[in-house]
Amino acid sequence: MPTMKAVAKTKPEPGAEIIDIDIPTPGPDDVLAKVLATSICGTDLHIYEWNEWAQGRIKNIPQIMGHELCGEIVETGKNVKNLKKGDIISAETHIACGHCYLCHTGNAHICVNGSIFGVDINGVFAEYAVVPAPNAWILDSRIQKDFASVMEPLGNAVHTVLAGEITGNTVLVTGCGPIGLMSISVARICGATKIIATEINDFRIGLAGKVGADVVLNPTKDKIVSRVLEETAGLGVDVVLEMSGNPTAMIDAFGALRPGGRYSILGIPDKPMEIDIGKHIVFKYATVQGINGRLMFSTWHKTARFLSSGRLDLEPIITHRLRLDEYEKGMDLMRQGNCGKILLYP
Ligand SMILES: [Zn+2]
Ligand SMILES: [Zn+2]
Repeated sequence: MPTMKAVAKTKPEPGAEIIDIDIPTPGPDDVLAKVLATSICGTDLHIYEWNEWAQGRIKNIPQIMGHELCGEIVETGKNVKNLKKGDIISAETHIACGHCYLCHTGNAHICVNGSIFGVDINGVFAEYAVVPAPNAWILDSRIQKDFASVMEPLGNAVHTVLAGEITGNTVLVTGCGPIGLMSISVARICGATKIIATEINDFRIGLAGKVGADVVLNPTKDKIVSRVLEETAGLGVDVVLEMSGNPTAMIDAFGALRPGGRYSILGIPDKPMEIDIGKHIVFKYATVQGINGRLMFSTWHKTARFLSSGRLDLEPIITHRLRLDEYEKGMDLMRQGNCGKILLYP
């Protein structure tokens, strides 16, 4: 049996290891992809650092980490008709059952029987990966190959930005990690008229300006609510895109939202938090929505069009390209926040 190198969680403790493991065999409805590039997500960092969430969620150790994929199909299962050897693919990482109530009603991204690459099953920090055929997304040849790996988190940004009106609106993006930065770019090309971002890391503050934020505030120096009110003629922003999961940032963003505004949350707080529902939601007449994954597959179509049209440039957001065996360096950069998106090449 030929083997491959993979970055795996091998013990229920912080860290990861490079292991030699059999190259997986695709089932009849799967494809086998040679991994051309992968990228590090916040989720991977949580699993690497073994935080409380990861301890409760990761059941199958040893497990290959990673879920963001640019792959080339090298083998197809016998039932697979729409994909062929040589196709360059990205992958939707939420694997849906296809027959539950949610799958039947256009909500496969929150399938009750769903599982996620690199979280519930083996992931893609490896030389090869098996992808269920319905999850493979063929890359438009006009799109730069390794952007395929970033389409999954970019899809999170597209889903969040487009989850309500955006054109002509003022927007606050809280947190300028990779998806926050992508949200700024997407909001800009979708016609947001003023984009205010908040971030504490100097490197990311610089990036936020580069990708199109009009104003970047630093919560360690600026009074966020009063500065946002100043920037919006005393009204507050029409839209909040919450990307930080930081409780203080989340509460401040409620204060910065105009009455009747939209508050879309992709960031995940570490633990339960308290908010004043009467003040921040009811009397404010706010629409608050959680965002999870990407609509399958309308978000993917839009994401691909943004890229293939050349309207959206990911290059400024991809700050590091490392070898897969340099994953520790990548995790360190992520922890410090001194990076945008980090790509890894097996
Ligand atoms: Zn991801
Ligand atoms: Zn389902």
